[in-house]
Amino acid sequence: MRKTGWRKMRALPLASRLLLSHLLVMIVGVGTLVIIGKLSSPRFFVTRLQQLEGRGVLLRYTRTYLVDVFQTTWNRSTFWSVIAGATAAGGLSYWISQRIVKPLTQIEQVTQKFASGELGERLPASGIPEINRLANSFNRMAVSLEDVERRRRELVSDLTHELRTPLTVLRGYLEELATERIEATPEVYRQLARETRRLERLINDLQELSKAEAGYLPIKLESVNLRPLLVSLVQRFADQLLEDGPILRLECPDQLPKVLADIDRVEQVLVNLLGNALTYTKAGSITVSAGKELEGVKSSVSRLWIAVTDTGVGIAPEDLPHVFERFWRGEKSRNRDSGGTGIGLAISQRLIELQGGEIEVESQVAVGSTFRFYLPLA
Ligand code: ADP
Repeated sequence: MRKTGWRKMRALPLASRLLLSHLLVMIVGVGTLVIIGKLSSPRFFVTRLQQLEGRGVLLRYTRTYLVDVFQTTWNRSTFWSVIAGATAAGGLSYWISQRIVKPLTQIEQVTQKFASGELGERLPASGIPEINRLANSFNRMAVSLEDVERRRRELVSDLTHELRTPLTVLRGYLEELATERIEATPEVYRQLARETRRLERLINDLQELSKAEAGYLPIKLESVNLRPLLVSLVQRFADQLLEDGPILRLECPDQLPKVLADIDRVEQVLVNLLGNALTYTKAGSITVSAGKELEGVKSSVSRLWIAVTDTGVGIAPEDLPHVFERFWRGEKSRNRDSGGTGIGLAISQRLIELQGGEIEVESQVAVGSTFRFYLPLA
């Protein structure tokens, strides 16, 4: 029996439960007060009367009357005090329970809307600090979820756009081959293979980018000296240079301060920057340089900078803000032929950011470009 009563109480809304628990506390308090008062007050009164009699005051004929009057007065005043106190306490506890429950109901409504896809919903500030903290955490989570959702939507739309072109080319060739409108020459097959390779590269880059953007790429930060990596990369790329192409050189002090970085990820970034420099530089030079950033130039922490400078085609000022955007390419048709996916720099930027650094670009059309990134010193 008691158990069902308890269960029923738990099924009530929070506001009613709060109110009931307040009332219960009040009943216990007032009840104790009344019972103890009822039991002890007349006795004290009688004792006081006896003390008065002891001092010679004559109360023999009025004693019973006085005790009766005292009890009636006590009962009446207690009755009205309980009524007034209970009304005031009941009203106050109703107000308090509403004050606690209202923001909770609001949180419930907002989270339900959020769950059904209305990601713009936010919780208002509350006067109760604990609920305010909860609202702030929820709002922060909402912002980051909205951001992830926005990125996901952009990625899907960019991706659809990027996949469509090679697929259209492939389908066009295959249909023409099927209806024998074109001859199956090795050149046609080479073109088909080129488009397939493009798709393959796109998928690989995309996989890497989605991992980097979602923060799934494992980054193992260690204290490393990057000089040996720079030397070996410059050697490796120098072997790929054509005789009439640009020269590749390294300008780096013998002693480089150590940085806190993941050497594999730094190599990935440098391979991308050097690859781009080679693609967009027909003659002149490509220089890899590194050094310690001058104290307090751009940030309060000491950093190492590494730059890849070329004397290539350069990037137009209006294009500069877009180079790190995924799928962005300079003159699209030219770069599509050169096989670029427009993802390399987006990945590089994310990788550098994951290591606590930043990357920037300076460029001038027909003069050349410098991609420079900073890494925190170990
Ligand atoms: P892609 O795979 O197309 O090279 P990136 O993200 O690496 O993709 O580069 C994006 C675009 O930035 C390139 O298409 C090119 O237009 C421009 N770009 C990158 N590096 C250079 C450079 N060194 N010189 C001139 N333009 C560059």
